[in-house]
Amino acid sequence: MGPGRGAGITGQAEELYRGKAKRVLAGPDPKTVVLEFTDRATAGDGARTGLIRGKGEVNCRVSALAFEFLESRGLGTHFLSQEGPRRLLVRRLEIIPLECVVRNRAAGSLCRRLGLEEGTPLRWPVVELYYKSDPLHDPMVNRWHARALGWASPEEVEALEAAALEANRLLTDFFGAAGLVLVDFKLEFGRFERRLLVGDEVSPDTCRLWDRETGLRLDKDRFRLDLGGESEAYRQVLARLERAWGGGGGAGG
Ligand code: 5GP
Repeated sequence: MGPGRGAGITGQAEELYRGKAKRVLAGPDPKTVVLEFTDRATAGDGARTGLIRGKGEVNCRVSALAFEFLESRGLGTHFLSQEGPRRLLVRRLEIIPLECVVRNRAAGSLCRRLGLEEGTPLRWPVVELYYKSDPLHDPMVNRWHARALGWASPEEVEALEAAALEANRLLTDFFGAAGLVLVDFKLEFGRFERRLLVGDEVSPDTCRLWDRETGLRLDKDRFRLDLGGESEAYRQVLARLERAWGGGGGAGG
């Protein structure tokens, strides 16, 4: 542990970066960082902010369960361990400045752009890339932009899209076991020791999750669309996933 580095994973640690909903803290060694999940929520590109009580703990635990599941099925992630209710110890990635969205049904920005009805099934999963830039509002780009501007090598773009589709297959089962339809989700990737790993989080903040029976939205759209009942929805997602996978089913089954 170098000077000024984390005084333990669960105690005070140097803040490296403060995001909209998470803090990134120095980890116990230079190859790790700690993600701290908060209850803060933003929508509409930061136009609306608020608190969703309990969200930090839910997103932390859901991410831990999802990452364990993906790892157990052979998809590499940055996850190392959960440390207390709101913190994950993760590998320190060299972040690729792309967000990768995978869609199984039309929702959100796809409906707005193409005039589709929410929930319209897609014949094939759709993979989209967005350039991570707050001042530019994360514009949609394609693999040609990513390669031409050097955000990722041609091989990395191939690998990233393939990994996103594999994640879609796996996460559809992961959430499906909890009675949840994975409508769409966003992943981020980074480099670690010549490997491409899934980073960031997998949670109701970054996935659209609809109840399979009722179609009820159990994700951040409750906040984005001001539907109410956010905390309950988030807690329900976690309770169902714990029932399905919390007993170690992720690693073994
Ligand atoms: P859309 O493009 O429809 O707004 O989002 C597609 C999917 O990616 C949704 O599941 C949404 O939650 C996720 N997503 C896309 N961009 C972001 C982002 O900047 N932050 C978060 N939390 N989720 C995002």
